Amino acid sequence: MIDQQTIDRVQDTAQILDVVGEFVSLRRRGQNYVGLCPFHSDKNPSFYVSPAKNVCKCFSCGEGGGPVQFLMKHEQISFFEAIKWLGNKYGIEVEDRKMTDEERARQTARESMLMANEFAQKTFEDDLFGTNEGKSIGLTYFRERGLQDETIRRFHLGYALDSKYDFATRALAKGYKREILLDPSENNRDGVGLCYGEDPKRTPTCRFHGRVIFPYHSLSGKPVAFGGRILQRVDHAFKKYVNSPESALYHKSDLLYGIFQAKSEIAKRDKCYIVEGNVDVLTMSQAGFINTVASAGTALTTNQIRIIKRFTKNVTLMYDGDAPGVSAALKTIDLLLLEGMNVQLILFPDGDDPDSFCRKHSTEEIKRYFDENEKDFVAFKASVMLQGNVRRDPIKKAQITQNIVQSIALIENPIYSSAFIREASQLLDLDEMAIIKAIKTAKDQNYAAEVRKFEIEQRRKMAQQEREDREAEGLKANEIETEQLPVNDDNVSEEASAPAEDQPTQQSSSATPSPLTETRPTDRFERNIIRNIVRHGGKSFDYKCYDENDQLVCERWRVIDYIGCVLQQDEIEFNVPLYAKMLQLAYDASEDPNDEWDSVKFFTTHYDPEVSKLALSLESDRYDALGIAKNVEDLDILIPRCVLELQECIVRTEINDCNKALKYPSPDTDVVKIMQRLQELYNIKKVFDKELGERIVTL
Ligand SMILES: [Zn+2]
Repeated sequence: MIDQQTIDRVQDTAQILDVVGEFVSLRRRGQNYVGLCPFHSDKNPSFYVSPAKNVCKCFSCGEGGGPVQFLMKHEQISFFEAIKWLGNKYGIEVEDRKMTDEERARQTARESMLMANEFAQKTFEDDLFGTNEGKSIGLTYFRERGLQDETIRRFHLGYALDSKYDFATRALAKGYKREILLDPSENNRDGVGLCYGEDPKRTPTCRFHGRVIFPYHSLSGKPVAFGGRILQRVDHAFKKYVNSPESALYHKSDLLYGIFQAKSEIAKRDKCYIVEGNVDVLTMSQAGFINTVASAGTALTTNQIRIIKRFTKNVTLMYDGDAPGVSAALKTIDLLLLEGMNVQLILFPDGDDPDSFCRKHSTEEIKRYFDENEKDFVAFKASVMLQGNVRRDPIKKAQITQNIVQSIALIENPIYSSAFIREASQLLDLDEMAIIKAIKTAKDQNYAAEVRKFEIEQRRKMAQQEREDREAEGLKANEIETEQLPVNDDNVSEEASAPAEDQPTQQSSSATPSPLTETRPTDRFERNIIRNIVRHGGKSFDYKCYDENDQLVCERWRVIDYIGCVLQQDEIEFNVPLYAKMLQLAYDASEDPNDEWDSVKFFTTHYDPEVSKLALSLESDRYDALGIAKNVEDLDILIPRCVLELQECIVRTEINDCNKALKYPSPDTDVVKIMQRLQELYNIKKVFDKELGERIVTL
């Protein structure tokens, strides 16, 4: 942990020009500097560095921020690592604050876990290339699958010797603690699950013995888990694949196979290929499609999509052309659209997967196939669903239309969705208006919520299945344990003695998707308030109003205090989670009214990249949502107005709802009550309208 003073000192010292200059070649342009953006494939310099503001920003892809944010994004490091990096550069001693015992314990446990996994990765790798068994079994297998040594090394593939106790014996001799090697069961949160075996008198068994090893890397390249594939005994008592159990380091639904090796190329090419299997990633990467990841044995999750989104919004799903492949693709499309991704799909010819296809063809041929067969989701859905005589079957056709329309309804950007509406109308031979109406219905029925629910339900089922498997295997393992295990390996079925591949961890909150948000008319007014808080939060202004005697009174308010006061009085909560989060951050940071609160600095240098990114764009956009030029900054008018507009919009929305309810009453509609409420609302609106009229901005 680094103390706040040091963090402030580093942040105050770091110069954006020095920092960016280490990675990007910059030319002077007026007061600023420009260069090619390191975050997207930039042909004309669109990356601006402003020494005066101490920030950088790409005017093409929108990335940017202060020195810390730039480093975090560019080097894919944490906030604290970025502070250390800068401290080192500017000769500021960044000493870790003395950690509390609990913090130290947590930190040490994590480090020990990573060290154990690093030891395992190195051992498996050394044994693959350095032992006869490794070479004759593991390396032969990889080479037969067409993998070159360079690829094998780059992904740190390995081989675990086919001896149950060999790995643990070596690890224990090196001083790695037994608990760290074992399963992360309830009483051992620090285990990585390389081995299993409860009996403290016995050497634990290596979970992966006799298997080729695929390490899973975190974004920063640390091995956080392993997958092992059995080669020799294709006896069904042995699971073909075994994975590390979930641990403090590893949550299955947060990890993508190959992301570390692919991430910079994904950003550079602004595109990510998503395949199903680990070997698909390896062959694709070797064929030059380095920007490829796999969802590692689960259906693609929202968390995984959000990781990809840090590098690109453009994804291409690649699935086998068989029926399960297609149905997996269909489900994944909606989840991707919901996260605002641009989705393309490529199906492989029957019987081929990305791996077999890439091995059969040259890079040029593969590229040509991709170019010719890449389809957007509308064309993809239409082509797989409209096969045979379906076109003449009105019910089937209606179902297909419904399916496509629901997906389009998930797209927020109206320009994109209108392009897809046009395409769907052509492919389905339907009137555009009919499709637009159907989209409206899908939106009203909140199809987005259904997609989220479906994902949560899938996840719940998976966890349930894993729990049951684990319990069943636990029973079997116990039976064998009491029978006194024979030392001869081959009689023991791995399925019986190995714990389940996964188990729910105590805190898998990371797997829960964030609460869903529908767009509401109020969103843009919330944004405008956040914009004013970012720009002016700590400044003061004169609030002018009339008191009961119609006397003009003038109160001095700090912007953040005024906004907080009005919103809390009316119990207004923000709909957009990010805006709500920033509002809370602002309240917390500005608590002491005597402190000078520099809101611009606070937000644009915030360690949460989501926050700093939005702050930067709000800080630098020339016009706000209302088209008011930036140079009009009369806070006396702006601040009360931005809150009033939100209040007015809330009232207006409720009036609309009431009117709708009166127009289409259901049997249990309380018409009188609604009429009364409407009258109240009209009265409130009148007050707001009057005030808004008085607070017109004069340019
Ligand atoms: Zn850029």
